[in-house]
Amino acid sequence: MADSASSADESLGKRKREQGEQDGRSPKRQTNYSDVVTILVGRDEVPFVVHKELLCQCSPFFAAACSREWLPDSGNKTVPMPSIKPKVFTQYIDRVYKNTIDLGLPQAPSKATERVCDEHGHAFLRAIRLYLAADILLDEALKMDIINQLIRFVDHGTLSFHAKHVQKIWNNTTENAGLRRYLLDYLATSGKATSEWLRGTKDKLPLDFYVELAIRQAEAYDTTTSLRPSWNNRCNYHDH
Ligand SMILES: [Zn+2]
Repeated sequence: MADSASSADESLGKRKREQGEQDGRSPKRQTNYSDVVTILVGRDEVPFVVHKELLCQCSPFFAAACSREWLPDSGNKTVPMPSIKPKVFTQYIDRVYKNTIDLGLPQAPSKATERVCDEHGHAFLRAIRLYLAADILLDEALKMDIINQLIRFVDHGTLSFHAKHVQKIWNNTTENAGLRRYLLDYLATSGKATSEWLRGTKDKLPLDFYVELAIRQAEAYDTTTSLRPSWNNRCNYHDH
């Protein structure tokens, strides 16, 4: 299982390299730091000036937008991005330049027997917002990294689930989205969906969420295979 998971991840990397080669981009070619684009972010159109090549390498959305939005000599080098908030876009740009993401998930405790908790669910909400931005920007590698970080975190920590987390995911993803599958499997197998939790959220969440959760809980009960999200089955939550 672990082998198939890592080989799937590797094949994504290989595909990306192959795409690069087909696009005529040699992996060794120097990045063009002289061509910039301004992204007008959020409803207030906060300008972010970014190196076009780096941005377009990460985001097929911007690659398409940049080739569509302006002709080479038109001088119009702005792309509007009203649906992502500046705070989240800052995190995205950090990732584009540094190739890392810091979701602020609590670090592993010193003793293996202890567990840490994302107490108020802030880190999980940050992860969800960045995932949804990556979804809009078609950045599959970032979505995969976020899922991997969540899975690594639950090895030594507990995610705080509130109605707002479920609402955010349920309202902004399609039926087969990896993060939705992760949400259902985590809730169905972690013991977080207690009777108290269900009673407390029942007026805030859509009925089909509870139906899907009940089905997943029944499937977890029926099968001898663990449905709990783990490093070995992480590809269940990747969209590749
Ligand atoms: Zn995978």
